[in-house]
Amino acid sequence: MSTTISTNPYSGKEIKTYKNHTKNEVEEIIKKADRRFYQWRETSYTERKKLMLAAAAELKENKEEYAEMMTLEMGKPISQAIAEIEKCAWVCEYYAENAQSQLQNEIKKTDADKSYVSYEPLGVVLAVMPWNYPYWQVFRFAAPALMAGNIGILKHASNVFGCALNIEKVFKRAGFPENCFTTLLIDSDAVEGVIENEKVKAVTLTGSGPAGASVASIAGKNIKKTVLELGGNNGLVVFKDCDMDKTIETCVMARYQNTGQSCIAGKRLIIDESLAEEFTEKLVQKVRELKSGNPMDEETFIGTLAREDLAEDLEKQVNDSIEAGAKLVLGGKRQYAYFEPTILTEVTEKMAVFNQETFGPVLSVTTFKTVEEAIDLSNNSKFGLGVSLFTKNIEEAEKLAFQFDEGAVFINELVKSDPRLPFGGVKMSGYGRELSEHGIREFVNRKTVYIN
Ligand code: NDP
Repeated sequence: MSTTISTNPYSGKEIKTYKNHTKNEVEEIIKKADRRFYQWRETSYTERKKLMLAAAAELKENKEEYAEMMTLEMGKPISQAIAEIEKCAWVCEYYAENAQSQLQNEIKKTDADKSYVSYEPLGVVLAVMPWNYPYWQVFRFAAPALMAGNIGILKHASNVFGCALNIEKVFKRAGFPENCFTTLLIDSDAVEGVIENEKVKAVTLTGSGPAGASVASIAGKNIKKTVLELGGNNGLVVFKDCDMDKTIETCVMARYQNTGQSCIAGKRLIIDESLAEEFTEKLVQKVRELKSGNPMDEETFIGTLAREDLAEDLEKQVNDSIEAGAKLVLGGKRQYAYFEPTILTEVTEKMAVFNQETFGPVLSVTTFKTVEEAIDLSNNSKFGLGVSLFTKNIEEAEKLAFQFDEGAVFINELVKSDPRLPFGGVKMSGYGRELSEHGIREFVNRKTVYIN
């Protein structure tokens, strides 16, 4: 019997052992999901909206219960976990209100008497999801997918199976029909068989590059649509005319919230040389004040990383960079899955903390002399998820936005996801978009109807 053990990264203690679904059980789940699809796609937007609003209400009503599981399983500080659940309710409400208008028929003027595009659901969509925002990543897929008339099946990361089952529970408690959304308890080796199942029509994955490449190649062989949301190595580009105090505050949040485990975190501070010393001194002071501790404590801001091996990987990236000449000005130590908030200065493009994604509370600092150099440094990344620019010269910054190879440019703000805006990357950060009307149109058949 294959099992998955869920471990608390703060205490190191086992939370629960889950019995994995067998191959036959997986096939049965997919069969039922597919059967449900033919009924679900006939439901009206009014009915779907009612259910999705009930899911939002359920999340809000029991946010502590859902948040606690997240904190136990992956070490997110409880106050941030509660905020994540609230954000999930927001995306449910957003799509409950907007799906119908986003997917209404689009009339096109042609030489036909009437021609239009209709947006129709595809069927069962598999979501392979990560542990860093274990509810949000799933809801930002599930809310639009279900509102569009699709069915969701989830293969969640192996360390957050409790959250995965909770998500299934949210939809059940909200009154969704059976099998509209199901969690598969399987390990990643079993994903290939799910993608190959002819009843599964498309796949979305959020996670690392290797996982994305594997899923996309299997889907490609089976001619199935994919959306990939992979890593990021966002720059925080600070120009000399920025508002220093505000910029520091934003940079601290951009790098250290969620204990630094976010694809859109600002990982590389790229700063005008003339400002660097004063800025870094103040920044170090602010980061030193961040409270580490038990993730269940409401006052805690820095929890643990989600697993010990992730903290070990981060430690190696930091040590390699120090060996290559980076200067450690704060933190740098690991204890089991906990990693101290860390800042490295004198970082060059050759160092691991610059040219690899660091998935934890580590900020690298690199200086520039000219605007061109700042753009080159920011673009010198295999990833292209987003960048933040800090300056008072908005007009100039808006002109520069075009030169950044990114899915998003945020000026005087950290890169964040918002249900109303498309979210996704270029280069090795993946393809396709989530959220907004762009996200809901990823998993639909854009059918042309032509009447003469
Ligand atoms: P993974 O990419 O390995 O895990 C993400 C999801 O993909 C999990 O559900 C995982 O399942 C699944 N998965 C992994 N490999 C495969 C595969 N070959 N085929 C199908 N599914 C697969 O992330 P890790 O947990 O290993 O984290 C490693 C690094 O990935 C991080 O340090 C970070 O750089 C990046 N990452 C990026 C995220 C983002 O938001 N873009 C989120 C999480 C990680 P299982 O858990 O069973 O292996």
